[in-house]
Amino acid sequence: MKQVRCARCTICGREYPAVPELTTCHCGGILDIVYDYDYIRSVLTKETLAQRTNPTMWRYRELLPVEDSTPDTPLRVGGSPLYAQSALADELGLDALWIKDDGQNPTASLKDRASAMAVAKAWEAGAEIIACSSTGNAASSLAGNAAAAGLKTYIFVPERAPKGKVAQLMIFGAHVISVRGSYEDTFRLSAQAIERYGWYNRNAAVNPYLSEGKKTVSLELAEQLSWQMPDHLAISVGDGCTIAGVWKGLKDLYALGFIDRLPRLISGQAAGCCPINRAIRTGEDWQPMEENTLADSIAVGVPRNAHKALCAIRESRGLAVDVTDEEILQAMTFLGRRCGLFGEPAGVTGFAALHKACREGLIERGATAACIITGNGLKDVANAIAAAGEPICIPPDLEEMVRQFRIRGVTVE
Ligand SMILES: *Cc1c(COP(=O)(O)O)cnc(C)c1O
Ligand SMILES: [Zn+2]
Repeated sequence: MKQVRCARCTICGREYPAVPELTTCHCGGILDIVYDYDYIRSVLTKETLAQRTNPTMWRYRELLPVEDSTPDTPLRVGGSPLYAQSALADELGLDALWIKDDGQNPTASLKDRASAMAVAKAWEAGAEIIACSSTGNAASSLAGNAAAAGLKTYIFVPERAPKGKVAQLMIFGAHVISVRGSYEDTFRLSAQAIERYGWYNRNAAVNPYLSEGKKTVSLELAEQLSWQMPDHLAISVGDGCTIAGVWKGLKDLYALGFIDRLPRLISGQAAGCCPINRAIRTGEDWQPMEENTLADSIAVGVPRNAHKALCAIRESRGLAVDVTDEEILQAMTFLGRRCGLFGEPAGVTGFAALHKACREGLIERGATAACIITGNGLKDVANAIAAAGEPICIPPDLEEMVRQFRIRGVTVE
């Protein structure tokens, strides 16, 4: 990999050769992949990119830690749509607003970007089995991407994982271990099993290549915006890998001179589980919290990538915005009704945080902003119904329908 120099510990700075089986540093710190930007600049320009027809995340191959000889993974990961929302921007007091729907990935979440990377690195390692623990989406995306690549998976999820995500796991033929405990308990069990059986490790944060996959969402966003970055970029945060990956992608582009300014990050967390945002506010180290939110994908009481996430938010002079479960459910129906976009609770938490920041004047009027929907609403039908309610249910009788319209004040024109 000519484009990669090494992997460097984010805590002690120790460097490691970038072999496919990398995990954490001896000191316990999370590693970060270090690139040779001079080399990359010599092989990648905006113009060469513009000529590529490959819409997947692999169009940014020179900026990814894979060997030239490693094939693209089979599913179409990346290439998700970016929508300009001018009416909403007006309403929020913004000059421009873009929403990127990353629920449009093959298994319906942004996690596909990390899982495709895990598959590519497992291929390079010659591994035939990949394992991970997950709140749900990392699991279903690994199961799908691995199935397409002919790899076996062992997957650990907390018992609370929504049915839609578990259904995906079963359809994709994963070996599923549903753990009666928290995400933290689930993570610990998976780490022990991986240690015992020597499976390829797709655990969030521990495997430093995964964030590199996730960063492709911001590479794509920048290219879709013709390299003109907005003032703010909002994203939901659980373990912290996504926001750290987003920041890494932006810094890569800045180092290459593809973009000339960096947005400020908005970290959206649920008020009932916000260890990273709390650390931003107090300026101190993060402390574990209970997992007290219906946004299951970001119900992470012990974030695995807190250090990288905190560095990213602080470096960007970002905002930490907590939203209540009620505000998350409101964001779901708001995006559905106004934009035709359907996100799961954690999927819309970035937007909910941006909306709140606008309402509370945390963002200057006339600013520009983007946010990313990280997971599709069909993943968690129970909470979608909780947000939007039930339909009118009547016998097949026109007069009864008219009567119900009258009672409920339904207008017909
Ligand atoms: C995993 C996930 C997140 C948060 O990503 P982290 O890397 O855990 O911070 C946000 N939204 C959805 C839908 C997710 O699945
Ligand atoms: Zn270290």
